[in-house]
Amino acid sequence: MVRFDEGDHFSFLGEEALQAVYNECMKKSSSMTELIQKPYIRPAKVWTRPTVDRKRGRDGKVIYNWQPHANCEAALIHSRGEIAPEPCDFCSAKRGRFAECVVMPGMFKGACGNCRWASKDASCSLRKDKEKDM
Ligand SMILES: [Zn+2]
Ligand SMILES: [Zn+2]
Repeated sequence: MVRFDEGDHFSFLGEEALQAVYNECMKKSSSMTELIQKPYIRPAKVWTRPTVDRKRGRDGKVIYNWQPHANCEAALIHSRGEIAPEPCDFCSAKRGRFAECVVMPGMFKGACGNCRWASKDASCSLRKDKEKDM
């Protein structure tokens, strides 16, 4: 069970919850394994009341699917990466699952964790080779 610590504006995934995310994810990626070995810096923060409509359970709480390895990687980036000095366009618009814009230097071409969710990192405005991709 992945347990959030509930807050007014944000809910937090601490290291124990993140380990649960990692352990419960059936298909582990090499990026995931690389990320989990990095030191834990802060809890991954998600919006308690998201600005974007999200799938909810019967208890009214947002449901997070941690099975796609990209989603697990996203949570790990948020707990281990660096907070971007300027959030990317997606995070600025508060459309992401996570409350902060966090990047892991040297991974995902500089794309942030929020954009890594659902493997959408190619569209992150912080991604280094963005121009070449378009
Ligand atoms: Zn971002
Ligand atoms: Zn982004």
